[in-house]
Amino acid sequence: MTKPRKISLTLRIFIGMIAGALVGLILNAAFGESGDLVIAGVSLNDNLVDGLFGALGQIFIASLKMLVVPLVFISLVCGTSSLSDPSKLGSLGGKSIVLYVSTTAIAISSAIIAALIIAPGEGLNLTAETTFNVKESPALSQVFVNMFPTNPINAMAQGNMLQIIVFAIIFGIALSLSGESGERIKRGFDDLNNVVMKIVTMVMEIAPYGVFVLMAKLFTNIGYDTILGLAKYFFLVLFVLVFHWLVTYPVLLKSLSGLSPVMLIKKMRQACLFAFSIASSSASIPVTMATARQKLGVQPSVSSFTIPLGATINMDGTAIMQGVATVFIAQVYGVDLSVSDFLMVIMTATLASIGTAGVPGAGLIMLAMVLQQVGLPVEGIALIIGVDRLLDMTRTAVNVTGDCMVACIVAKSEGELDENIFNDPKIEDIKV
Ligand code: ASP
Repeated sequence: MTKPRKISLTLRIFIGMIAGALVGLILNAAFGESGDLVIAGVSLNDNLVDGLFGALGQIFIASLKMLVVPLVFISLVCGTSSLSDPSKLGSLGGKSIVLYVSTTAIAISSAIIAALIIAPGEGLNLTAETTFNVKESPALSQVFVNMFPTNPINAMAQGNMLQIIVFAIIFGIALSLSGESGERIKRGFDDLNNVVMKIVTMVMEIAPYGVFVLMAKLFTNIGYDTILGLAKYFFLVLFVLVFHWLVTYPVLLKSLSGLSPVMLIKKMRQACLFAFSIASSSASIPVTMATARQKLGVQPSVSSFTIPLGATINMDGTAIMQGVATVFIAQVYGVDLSVSDFLMVIMTATLASIGTAGVPGAGLIMLAMVLQQVGLPVEGIALIIGVDRLLDMTRTAVNVTGDCMVACIVAKSEGELDENIFNDPKIEDIKV
């Protein structure tokens, strides 16, 4: 008798997502204008949507986030200390940063060009209903100074990724230079790494349910009228995101490494569903890292470094939203931007992405910096805030794909890619 085929985790997550969206849509329709349904004195919005779905969703995201700091630190220490030649770190870091920065610049440039052609804000007469508080953009020198922790424990407590990366690299190099005692501690770190990765697979098992509640809550509360009002902006951002995902990345991957783009996109499905549901590339690090290692064959020496770095500094999807949003806001307010303004936008957005963490809504904070640089009214952000959540989710999926694509290119060029794993179509799920 043949055994029933186990449904893959990717499919289960997908089913959870669609089922959640459907439940949300039904509740949204049932709640109607009033935004709630009270049955026998019990408010469904308070108890089911905000209460049950909200609490379970938060627990799911927390269980991923709790892994980020230990995983990044432990795996980066293992990765660095296992490098046969620590001086390789320089070329590895250099290549990753150059690729991350260039893909972001390509992303925002294509977004600006698309927005200038389609002109999503022309003829719109919108007024901002809310206000948006601006954060000061950090000076470039400060971004570099801030990478060095004065207190590594504090960096971990704050989840400051760049500081954790710097400390882990120094620690890992010192381990590899410390002879026998270094060896002993390294073995302990290797074991710890396995344990943390085990927790990642455990959390992955509950992902279909986590994704279900997140989607159900989101789709219950979503304002469809807002999306329709901004349809041109919304769909243009979506189009450029999909274009970057399905055209720019494949072309870059093929031309820079010769690897199969189809395989990359196929193997990224699970990580993308994840990133989409939780809208945070930071919180997705455990899943992105496991994907890079186990499905794409990027060796730990490269993935432990490029993935957390990418989650922090590489935000192509976010840059795309900023490109379209800047042109959109300029058009709504009737401001003409010059070529040098656009160059300024590209530069500021690229640099801002280095200094801003990959968390939900980070893109809007970066957008405020960009608008300020070119003298556009920052209140313009209030115009697009209503449709940002769905776009945030989509761009996060693009961001994590970019992280993995760069990891593959760097690994291939450093001889740290297991192409048997990369090309094996049967590796579906992440396991430890
Ligand atoms: N949520 C995005 C990320 O974590 C950042 C953003 O675009 O707001 O990658």
